[in-house]
Amino acid sequence: MDAGFFIDLLFPAACAACGARIARGALCGECRMAIVPHRTAFCGTCAAALPGMRSACHPRAPYVLGAAGNYRNPVLRTLIHALKFGRVKAAAGTLGDVIAHYAARLPIDLKGFSVIPVPIAKERRRERGFNQAELIAARVAEFFGLPIERDVLVRTAHRGPQSDIEDPAERRLNVRNCYAVLPRPGERTARAPGKVVLIDDVTTSGATFTESATALRAAGTRKILALAAAKSV
Ligand SMILES: [Zn+2]
Ligand SMILES: [Zn+2]
Repeated sequence: MDAGFFIDLLFPAACAACGARIARGALCGECRMAIVPHRTAFCGTCAAALPGMRSACHPRAPYVLGAAGNYRNPVLRTLIHALKFGRVKAAAGTLGDVIAHYAARLPIDLKGFSVIPVPIAKERRRERGFNQAELIAARVAEFFGLPIERDVLVRTAHRGPQSDIEDPAERRLNVRNCYAVLPRPGERTARAPGKVVLIDDVTTSGATFTESATALRAAGTRKILALAAAKSV
């Protein structure tokens, strides 16, 4: 038995959304039910709903967007905040489950895909102690039985957080050329998996996913499903 077991006994968890006592996880059953999942994927360029997986509006979109729910959903928003700013790590598993159950219903076969979390700046990682996207990605990878690649995509520049910027054009500039796939030690060219499930907690303007997808495509990735727990557009 690990120490966590005894800590759970001594301090039963509280639902991150309503405060009710729960045995495990981050949400009570009622709050979990209040997260209404989307039923379609979305265009990676304009975020229009895609009943199929192909973008008719922007066939050359760099990725297909999968957002499990909407950021306006109070439970989903609270859960994302609890993980990112309240350091409630149990929220990552729940967010991963929300994404996985949503993605499992999309008309896409994820066989052969690798899961890659959107990296955060080293400075931010030091502050927070973890990359929230990586924790969520671990749960999604586990659910689908896919490999997770933590070191393929890296964040090369540290600028201010996206959440501090409202203007979409400024958000794009803030992350431009911030992500890269670097050659592995002893190799000359950077190589990324052919099919990638890219994971982030939330997507707003799509700038982070677009820049990450651009870096992956430059390193050989052909197919990208970018998954977030919530979209705010
Ligand atoms: Zn609750
Ligand atoms: Zn579109």
